[in-house]
Amino acid sequence: MKNLFLITFITILAFTACKKNNERTTSLPYDPPGATITTDKEITQQHKRTFYFSSDGLFISNEFEGARLNDVYRIEPFVYEAVIEPENAPVNNSAWYAFMTWSDYPQTITLILKYKDGTHRYIPKLSYDKENWFPLEDERIKIDASKQTAQLELNIGYDTLWVAAQELITSSVYDKWEDELAAKPFVEKREIGKSAGGRAINELLISENEAANNYVIFTGRLHPPEVTGFFALKSFVETIADSSEIAKEFRSKFNTIVIPLVNPDGVDNGHWRHNIHGVDLNRDWVKFNQPEPRAVRDEVNRIVKQNGKPHFFIDFHSTQEDVFYTMTLSSMLDDNLTESEKEKVKEGYELVNKWLSNLQKRFPDYHVNIVDTLSKKTSPTSDRWFQKTYHIPALTYEVGDETDRQLIKKIANGAAIWLMKLLNEKGTLNRTLAKSGL
Ligand SMILES: [Zn+2]
Repeated sequence: MKNLFLITFITILAFTACKKNNERTTSLPYDPPGATITTDKEITQQHKRTFYFSSDGLFISNEFEGARLNDVYRIEPFVYEAVIEPENAPVNNSAWYAFMTWSDYPQTITLILKYKDGTHRYIPKLSYDKENWFPLEDERIKIDASKQTAQLELNIGYDTLWVAAQELITSSVYDKWEDELAAKPFVEKREIGKSAGGRAINELLISENEAANNYVIFTGRLHPPEVTGFFALKSFVETIADSSEIAKEFRSKFNTIVIPLVNPDGVDNGHWRHNIHGVDLNRDWVKFNQPEPRAVRDEVNRIVKQNGKPHFFIDFHSTQEDVFYTMTLSSMLDDNLTESEKEKVKEGYELVNKWLSNLQKRFPDYHVNIVDTLSKKTSPTSDRWFQKTYHIPALTYEVGDETDRQLIKKIANGAAIWLMKLLNEKGTLNRTLAKSGL
């Protein structure tokens, strides 16, 4: 009874707090309770260490960027249990794990992943060099969701074997990729802010026309395990920076801003979902309590103050399947908008439809999966902030966890080409209008 009173009291308090700020935020259907509360929450840091089990001559370690392994027990010879916990709970079920292992002599072990606050989600990916990855065969995995376990059969030897939920794409991998792109004369890399844990939040600016004030903006990795979203962003951005005529024309009309790693602390600490303050960074775009979304917002606002014009926004994520989360026209139109803003919204809406239907025509064997039911006006997500603030088309590009990596690359390449084509036409039109004084 006491609890009930307390819950009622907290609910009333929370409701009052929301009303006071006149900023209602909507939880998305898969959100755990409290996801839209974005003030700092406590997290548990994992203890970094290397375990050595002398009786089997086996080493297991979490001493690397992106690792997640909270504890390991030897149950019997060659059978181990590895405890995997999230940074804090409640949390979405994105049960990230990553560890490395080697042994004094070749052996096959059974390793039981025992999850706390979640169940097995990702097919284990294995690598001997952290660059080339291969999935563990189906017959070597036994999942028991009721026990929150996944039993893996692993061959261990002298060479270090990395086992991870997805390919390890941590801040040092981003740095290398960003530096490679920044070697091109029309790509500039710069730091726009620091994460809560003091890591750099970097931006790539792709531009071949100093005078151009049109901008497209892409962000990624707000959620640490969402590596396939990065693969799409990478292919997309590389297409914009390549030597095709379409890309050259695009770069002469539009500047591209890319913030590929918005949550570097979460990624490097092997988090399931949150930043180092225990907060879901894609639920903080109303309150802006966390430094990472703030850095992105401030950078875009700075550009706009200098007469920059945002035209398009994509936030890259991952989920169980490929999805383009778009917005309904009615959710974007507001009575407060001026007639010209309404026109802009409608134009943007049509542009998105045209873009995705062109993509479908280009890849008839691939299903361009468009879902527009999730995003509400009050949604505290990045896409909604961009849409509401600048009346531009803004969407979330979700890539399936296990979508074939070559297919991700191919579709994202096609998506970038079609978007550039449409925006190139628009850019030409804008120029003609500007010249004719309309
Ligand atoms: Zn996500």
